[in-house]
Amino acid sequence: MLREALARQEFVLHYQPYLDLTTHQVAGVEALIRWQHPSHGLLYPDDFIPHAERSGLIDSIGEWVLNQACAQMSEWIALGIDITSMSVNVSPCQFSNCFLSALVKTVLQKNGLSAGYLDLEITESTVPSDEKMMYTNIAALRQLGVRISIDDFGKGYSSLERLRTIQVDRLKIDRVFVSDLNSNPLNACLIRSIIHLARQLGLSVIAEGIEDAEACARLQSLGCDQGQGFYFTAALDADACEKYLRDAQHGQRADPCRAAQSSQVYYRA
Ligand code: C2E
Ligand code: MG
Ligand code: MG
Repeated sequence: MLREALARQEFVLHYQPYLDLTTHQVAGVEALIRWQHPSHGLLYPDDFIPHAERSGLIDSIGEWVLNQACAQMSEWIALGIDITSMSVNVSPCQFSNCFLSALVKTVLQKNGLSAGYLDLEITESTVPSDEKMMYTNIAALRQLGVRISIDDFGKGYSSLERLRTIQVDRLKIDRVFVSDLNSNPLNACLIRSIIHLARQLGLSVIAEGIEDAEACARLQSLGCDQGQGFYFTAALDADACEKYLRDAQHGQRADPCRAAQSSQVYYRA
């Protein structure tokens, strides 16, 4: 079904902006895949990415995502939208593919994008089948100028060992630490430690899953660089995201949008 979905162009990307927590300016957007299933409606990646990883289709799906995200970025730049970073989730399986860095280079060239626009988030959904190749790919991609983030940091397979062996640019703190930040002092302590660790290693930090003003303020006070979450906006379809980016550019602040995964977004006058 996944193979057919790819052929029938049933996949679609939604985009979730993330903000600089100091300036509250949009710092970039993250591309998140959905499957517009003909009978089951809109399906979310947790329902099908694991199957794509197990079946090997993740390489073809990942290539489609990369192409689509870069084409969208290029279109937005051409329209004068002030956007500096596109984050794309890349499975550890894709990082085990020796063609990954060549593919990324080709896709960037095809879309006339410089590598500095692209940020690849290593998802922690599974263990890479070829860890050595993953390191080689990461080094080659950083050499190109592409930035690398460790997604869901602090959870799953993301370990301190990774920080010893691979060079990355950014840590993305998993939302489990953010969701009850204000009621659970242990979370604040862990986030403070992650930020300190990142500073020592010269990395930037983004927190995902910010759902309210309190969590946002707390993260700011802890020195977190960037933030993402329903407090700012859920993931939006391309048109709604374009509107969000235009409005943000013209100084209109987006209201918290907790209507999770709906493509609607409401703005404060
Ligand atoms: P992720 O990269 O950590 O993406 C963040 C997920 O959290 C997204 O779910 C997003 O919609 C959701 N989210 C955002 N803000 C909030 C919030 O404030 N609160 C809560 N509770 N959730 C929030 P989504 O889109 O269902 O994606 C799930 C995961 O699927 C992603 O986690 C990523 O690991 C994977 N994924 C998404 N797109 C791709 C892709 O193109 N390729 C690969 N390999 N994996 C993908
Ligand atoms: Mg991600
Ligand atoms: Mg994440």
